[in-house]
Amino acid sequence: MKKETENSVQVGRLKFISHSRNIWEETPEEDWNNWMWQQSKRVKTLQACEKVINLSEGEVKAFKESADKFNVGITPYYASLMDKDDVNCPIRQQSVPQVGELLTFPEDMADPLNEEGDMPTPCITHRYPDRVLFYVTHNCPVYCRHCTRKRKVADPSSATMTKQLEDAFLYIEAHPEIRDIVISGGDPLSLSDKKLDMILTRLRSIPHIEIFRLGTRNLVTLPQRVTDEFCEMLKKHQPVYVNTHFNHPKECTYEAYIACKKLADAGCVIGNQTVLLKGVNDDPKIMMELNHKLLAMRVRPYYIYQCDLSEGISHFRTSIEDGINIIEHLRGHTSGLANPTFVVDAPGGGGKIPLLPEYLVKKEGRKYTLRNYENKEFVYTEPELK
Ligand code: SF4
Repeated sequence: MKKETENSVQVGRLKFISHSRNIWEETPEEDWNNWMWQQSKRVKTLQACEKVINLSEGEVKAFKESADKFNVGITPYYASLMDKDDVNCPIRQQSVPQVGELLTFPEDMADPLNEEGDMPTPCITHRYPDRVLFYVTHNCPVYCRHCTRKRKVADPSSATMTKQLEDAFLYIEAHPEIRDIVISGGDPLSLSDKKLDMILTRLRSIPHIEIFRLGTRNLVTLPQRVTDEFCEMLKKHQPVYVNTHFNHPKECTYEAYIACKKLADAGCVIGNQTVLLKGVNDDPKIMMELNHKLLAMRVRPYYIYQCDLSEGISHFRTSIEDGINIIEHLRGHTSGLANPTFVVDAPGGGGKIPLLPEYLVKKEGRKYTLRNYENKEFVYTEPELK
């Protein structure tokens, strides 16, 4: 059953609602729904944040001491999802500085995936044979405290220049083996429709390009960005895949539901890349609910990432065992569509390595003893090979 009202939708037992708007309750609808208004009113300072939530001593300390390391930026929409009093609120953990950010450990790295090491030109990482990562901006509407690219995101000195974009186009043109382009950043949706249209038009004119993937967290932090005009523009460039980044069911609001619907109606296939974050989503029940909500929003759960070894995010890291345990609780207990792949993005640039619970109990000759999700054992006999 699906039931829709002006600001909520119910799909089966799942409800997507519009939350109250905290200090922005009196804001005219027209402004609230305007993504540029949301961008311009971002919460960036300690004083502004204190008006929205009751900050803990730890958050105040982290705000002050992390100021020169990584910017704060929170859209009114995302800030309105924060619990005013609960420091453990998952939205707060992801957007307000935490004391854990001030710690560094010997294993921490500025660029754990060695993205700079595989850069033939400043906007491109070319690691795998047939695809490239193309950085088109280093801005984002919300600066996620767990960001793996803290080294360059939010740093105005690392902004992508026109000359660098042009060099990236020339590189892609000169490499016919590239068929798939991941358009990333920062968040590419921080650019205007006009600029994105120019980039996509230019890339689409290259004969060997087959698909684009847009990596964006705007569906989560600024769903107002997905306007009808933006969707019309994307339709010209299909096939376009969208990889987004929901981490908690609380982020699955009515506004996010509508943004995903618009993109899906425009022909985009949407996948979600969750990062496993301690205190946010390191719980099988939360992951199950998140994945069910995503499917109802027409978003396919794609990956769960083990948290990278980036500097200042160690407080978010769980054990790898926690990730495997989550998969153990999903596989078989819910439909395969709600089962993303758990991966460790190998430090040093080794790529994504999938990890699964052990389902092979033993192998004797042609007989494989396997266990299912209920821990029951079954024997599969391979054909005799000639
Ligand atoms: S949206 Fe992505 S790139 Fe931007 S701060 Fe968040 S995790 Fe980093």
